[in-house]
Amino acid sequence: MTVRIRTAVRVEGIVQGVGFRPFVHGLATRLGLGGLVGNDADGVFAEIEGDPAAVARFLVLLEREPPPLARIDKVTTREVAPAGSAAFAIAPSPAGGRSRRALVSADTATCADCLAELADRGDRRYEYPFINCTNCGPRFTIITDVPYDRAATTMAGFEMCALCAAEYHDPADRRFHAQPTCCPACGPRLRLLTSDGTPVPGPPGSGPIAAAAGLLRAGQVLAVKGLGGYHLAADAGSAAAAAALRQRKHREDKPFAVMVADVAAARRLCAVSDAAADLLASARRPIVLLPRRPAEAGSAAVAPAVAPGNRQLGVMLPYTPLHHLLLRELAGPMILTSGNVSDEPIAFTDADARQRLAGIADAVLAHDRAIHIRTDDSVVRVFRGGAAVLRRSRGYVPEPLPVPVTFGRPVLACGAELKSTFCLGTRGHAFVSHHIGDLENAETLRSFTEGIEHFRRLFDIEPQVIAHDLHPDYLSTAHAARLAAQSGAELIGVQHHHAHIASCLADNGERGPVIGVAFDGTGYGPDGTIWGGEFLIADLAGYRRAAHLEPVPMPGGAAAIRQPWRMAASYLAAAYPGGAGRAGLAVAARNERAWGTITAMAERGINAPLTSSAGRLFDAVAALLGVRDAISYEGQAAIELEQLADPAEPGGYWAAADGGEPLRIAAAGLVRAAADDLAAGVSAPVIAARFHNGVAALIEGTCVTLRERCGLDTVALSGGVFQNLLLADRVVSALAGRGFRVLTHQRVPCNDGGISLGQAVIAASRAPQPGPG
Ligand SMILES: [Zn+2]
Ligand SMILES: [Zn+2]
Repeated sequence: MTVRIRTAVRVEGIVQGVGFRPFVHGLATRLGLGGLVGNDADGVFAEIEGDPAAVARFLVLLEREPPPLARIDKVTTREVAPAGSAAFAIAPSPAGGRSRRALVSADTATCADCLAELADRGDRRYEYPFINCTNCGPRFTIITDVPYDRAATTMAGFEMCALCAAEYHDPADRRFHAQPTCCPACGPRLRLLTSDGTPVPGPPGSGPIAAAAGLLRAGQVLAVKGLGGYHLAADAGSAAAAAALRQRKHREDKPFAVMVADVAAARRLCAVSDAAADLLASARRPIVLLPRRPAEAGSAAVAPAVAPGNRQLGVMLPYTPLHHLLLRELAGPMILTSGNVSDEPIAFTDADARQRLAGIADAVLAHDRAIHIRTDDSVVRVFRGGAAVLRRSRGYVPEPLPVPVTFGRPVLACGAELKSTFCLGTRGHAFVSHHIGDLENAETLRSFTEGIEHFRRLFDIEPQVIAHDLHPDYLSTAHAARLAAQSGAELIGVQHHHAHIASCLADNGERGPVIGVAFDGTGYGPDGTIWGGEFLIADLAGYRRAAHLEPVPMPGGAAAIRQPWRMAASYLAAAYPGGAGRAGLAVAARNERAWGTITAMAERGINAPLTSSAGRLFDAVAALLGVRDAISYEGQAAIELEQLADPAEPGGYWAAADGGEPLRIAAAGLVRAAADDLAAGVSAPVIAARFHNGVAALIEGTCVTLRERCGLDTVALSGGVFQNLLLADRVVSALAGRGFRVLTHQRVPCNDGGISLGQAVIAASRAPQPGPG
């Protein structure tokens, strides 16, 4: 007599839309087991029946060999009565669902199998720019609702042809239940249009891609519809095309990213480490910031106007079949930058693209598959051998991040203002949103509020706690208050730099306490000053301000952010009280007309809020050295100061601290040393390097003092200033040399894009847990 058992299995995680049911079907069939598998609102359920040893084997292999895009969070089993099933079946999806807990996967680069078909003349999807399968293609950007099914995607309007339907229904096929399955007979179509919407005729016998590549080669600017929005494309080798794009986009200086065919092509432009190569070629396909090779004689692969004056270049590999086909035709690097004018959000609907990009693009390569959610390209770099995300969006979102807390009550965290994201937390999951942009105009605000609604629906989260920045004027703060008033949720205000440190802790799976170093441009301080050069003794629940940069006036308030020379005037006034010793500086001569007024504003504190911001300190030195008196994008002066610095220079400046509680650090000492060196004829690259080394030494020295005071030997680094590679590297080396354990960001940005995660875990740590019953 043979013993048969039947085990009910539930799998949670990213298990829908990733080929999980055919995988289970194949595994069970291979092991001679009967039963069924299906999707429901919680994930995948299965019942497995047969010989006990084979059932046990099944459970081992289930977790050991899942499909490439799956991520199993949890498997639970229970024994049920055998039903005599000999065969294995795929159960139909139940309509509706009690809870929408199944996770949605991120958009994924075209897989190797699909690329092989794309290049195969005999395949019915030969050169079809929308080829995809269970293992690749659009996901998050086309999903309109859950459970994930074709009807709940923007592919709903495309009825599958008989051949596609057969593949879709065959459990042995790579396209089994791949929701975006399509082919040239039944799927989306590509069109090349002029900016007013009329079709562009290509050369006889060639399709829109060849015609589009021809326009790029002729130096024209093309709008290209991608996965998460429109890009603007141009031939990266053409100085004229790059300059035209810059001028029409009103983007004077910010570097453009380029797309190249493969890792070998990336290596021709940049130094690519193994870690960077893995990131480039990963299924997430982010923009990877890479150190540029020195321009070789005769090599004009990338025109200087693509990333002027920058040691780094943002490079990505093709991630849609359309990109692959277009790059093959162009046969060289292609500028691929977000489809927008200056700082607006990228265009993602066809009507919006026609309207907003008409003045920029000479032609539009579009298609009729709608984008439901706008997502920008993600940006990543390698820092000390590991990946560090600077912008987390397409390819990463909406995968939940594991966090070191449990959300006893569901939390919505509304983030800050610049590089805005929001975060929804439930149980052990934190869903950090895609990069929304700077919450400064109606369009971004709409993305933000609609994004929150979309995430709430997708993940079935009804927030009972809403966290926000303390800044009363942020649009995110106002939205938090509005939502709380509507829903009755509890509001929790979180200090900006505490959120930065909590974000870094959560990113590393830690709870603290640590010495948190939060250096950035701006954050609301509870004492009425603007913070941004902060040392906090912090854990997830609370913080104490243990040290900070000595506040200096910001003459004219926000105007001092746009005009770094005002910060030079302010810092010089602090560095040379009474005005002695600062005569004859070029920055004063360049701004002669207003210099006296601005200095007086700083000295008398008229319309000059106090700030301890590290970002403003970098601005002051950048202006002092003649790098830049006014900026066209956030952080520009500091970024250019970093590029100027001579990495070989070992010397550094020194800033004194007062020994108080909190410790106050007189960063004006760094500015005075820089001004003295400048007057003595020391070169700007050497001064810039000595300044960086001085800031690193200031952080090192302060952490040592705080360790003596509080006994903590772990330091968490956060805030946008640590995007500065030179500084971050020097600080980590110096702290490690002093025996500190140093935490830096990896999965969420150190800039304000990480704030929402920090707010969420702080709210979870502070909010009372629900009582029993
Ligand atoms: Zn594929
Ligand atoms: Zn078809």
